[in-house]
Amino acid sequence: MTAKPTEPTANTPAQDAKDAKDATAAADGSSAKDNRPAASDGASSAPRASYEHDGKPWLTAFTLLRYLWPADRPRLRLLFVLTGLAILMGQGFLAITPMVFATAVDAVGGEGRFPNASLTLLIGLVTAFGLARLLAQGSQEISSALFVFVGQNGIRSVALETFRHLHELSLRFHLGRQTGGLSRAIERGTKGIEFVLRMTTFNLVPTTFAIVIVSLILLFNFGPLYAAITFVTVVGYIIYTVMVTDWRIKYRRMMNETDSEATTKAVDSLLNYETVKYFSNEVHEATRFDGALRGYERAAVNNQLSLSLLNIGQGIIIAAGLVLLLSLSVPQVLAGEMTVGDFVAIQAYLIQLYLPLNFLGFAYREIRQGLVDMEYMFNLLDVDREIPDSPRAPVLKIDGGQLDFQTVNFGYNDDRQILHDLDFSVEAGKTLAIVGPSGSGKSTIGRMLFRFYDVWDGAIRIDGQDIRRVQQASLREAIGIVPQDTVLFNDTIAYNIAYGRPEASLEHVIEAAKLAQIHDFILDLPEGYDTRVGERGLKLSGGERQRVSIARTILKDPSILLFDEATSALDTDTESAIQASLAAVSRDRTTLVIAHRLSTVVDADEIIVLDKGRIAERGSHQALLERDGVYAHMWHSQQEADE
Ligand code: ATP
Repeated sequence: MTAKPTEPTANTPAQDAKDAKDATAAADGSSAKDNRPAASDGASSAPRASYEHDGKPWLTAFTLLRYLWPADRPRLRLLFVLTGLAILMGQGFLAITPMVFATAVDAVGGEGRFPNASLTLLIGLVTAFGLARLLAQGSQEISSALFVFVGQNGIRSVALETFRHLHELSLRFHLGRQTGGLSRAIERGTKGIEFVLRMTTFNLVPTTFAIVIVSLILLFNFGPLYAAITFVTVVGYIIYTVMVTDWRIKYRRMMNETDSEATTKAVDSLLNYETVKYFSNEVHEATRFDGALRGYERAAVNNQLSLSLLNIGQGIIIAAGLVLLLSLSVPQVLAGEMTVGDFVAIQAYLIQLYLPLNFLGFAYREIRQGLVDMEYMFNLLDVDREIPDSPRAPVLKIDGGQLDFQTVNFGYNDDRQILHDLDFSVEAGKTLAIVGPSGSGKSTIGRMLFRFYDVWDGAIRIDGQDIRRVQQASLREAIGIVPQDTVLFNDTIAYNIAYGRPEASLEHVIEAAKLAQIHDFILDLPEGYDTRVGERGLKLSGGERQRVSIARTILKDPSILLFDEATSALDTDTESAIQASLAAVSRDRTTLVIAHRLSTVVDADEIIVLDKGRIAERGSHQALLERDGVYAHMWHSQQEADE
């Protein structure tokens, strides 16, 4: 999990070792039921029950540090070190400021180190005071400027690695997750990093430095009692702050929860606008929404009250420390053992400590919250890839595209087998049709071919190569699919078609659109190829989406084609027009056609009838009709329905 943003598949050695182990198992042909998912995991390799980072803020912080200290970026590491130095310098200047001021006060009063100071010296002292302040602030700004490079790079590395990792996770994981929750996790995680970094770098670390430096100054200038009182005051302040913050964090959590609840209710209700109206349930909806709002109101009030309590307590502790220290110094000033300047300096030091301490409760809370948010994101990075490439796997070499399913057994869950001893071959350039009742496992065959899941046993080969032994990217490059339900990117039609081959020219895109019978429709749209298709492509009809999908597969120009009810959403006229295009595209390419409407597969070289994951019948259309079995029965009932 080391941050290597430039290497798409960068792994930790541990991950590599694991990948190697998994891949070796796969390469061995994974005998027997090795590839079955654990029975108890309910097939949702969605987040495991427990994670490495769970409830371990220190581990989360350590992981973050690794991202901030990139092994391959020496310049960033240098910036990291320089930031630390700048912070230290800033605190140093801040620490001497009260001393310079005290000297100036004494000099003005004719006391201290310069009892007979000239006007020039006095102005010089006042200027030195201004300069010390300026340098302190300047160093702080420099540290912020330096750190922004390190911090932002860290945030980018984590976000990018999470994104890449999510794309590497299996379909099983993605079917089990909630997109909203996942994107919130990344968003909160990156925000969390930002908070933690900001609070740590500009509050926690400088305040810690300040406490140490001020205590040392007080120790050497005024004696151990002064240092001890300051130290105890600050430690008492911190303990009090941490305790009260821990206690009141529940109100903050309640605020977050009730806020999400109110938002969810409002959004859900507005999304269901029509349903609310059909049932005249406006009052019911308002009551539900108000319920959540009331919860938020209560939590927000408690949050503010507890904050005031925290602030009052903090004020009391600081005031007590201040009064104690000053009371201690008053007799010494009167006795001439201490100057008025010293008296002023003591007050200035405490106030100087008090300011950053004031934010400590906030910083502590934000850091805690930030670490929790990050924990979730780092846990995501720990989710194993179910189907890794074998190490040094070769690319798939296509030589015609002969396809073999050799006694394939498979199920999504251990306790339910879907495909049973599936055995078929498609010679290079030929077409095989798979038909059968709904749920018989037709689409599953397509998912296996793309290696979204591994077979339990048996093997799938393309031109003799076991698909588990080749690079998955090369496998998927070789196959084109027109799926049952096409989901489009929320972009233009041209973008969605070009997705099949992103470097394709507009001419090629248009050519593909013409073959997919969608060009004329696109031209009729006011914005033509630049029309945006909406979220998931929902501004297009099902049939239009399917044709966009056909166009992009035509553009991809793969060696093997898989049509999974590619024309099911089309009317009969459009379907027959597209059938002609599909036939042209699939000529001389190995093609698998999954179909419900048998009239679309009569020309296939072979048809297999699948029933409950087993091959019930196989043969050409004519042969199957003559056999007068399941296929013939399906054919006749469809013919009757059509008539
Ligand atoms: P249809 O004609 O309705 O598309 P199909 O023959 O293509 O059906 P598949 O999608 O292959 O059927 O599904 C075969 C069986 O596998 C179904 O019973 C389905 O419930 C089950 N199934 C599909 N996907 C999953 C999954 N991700 N997890 C668990 N079971 C699944």
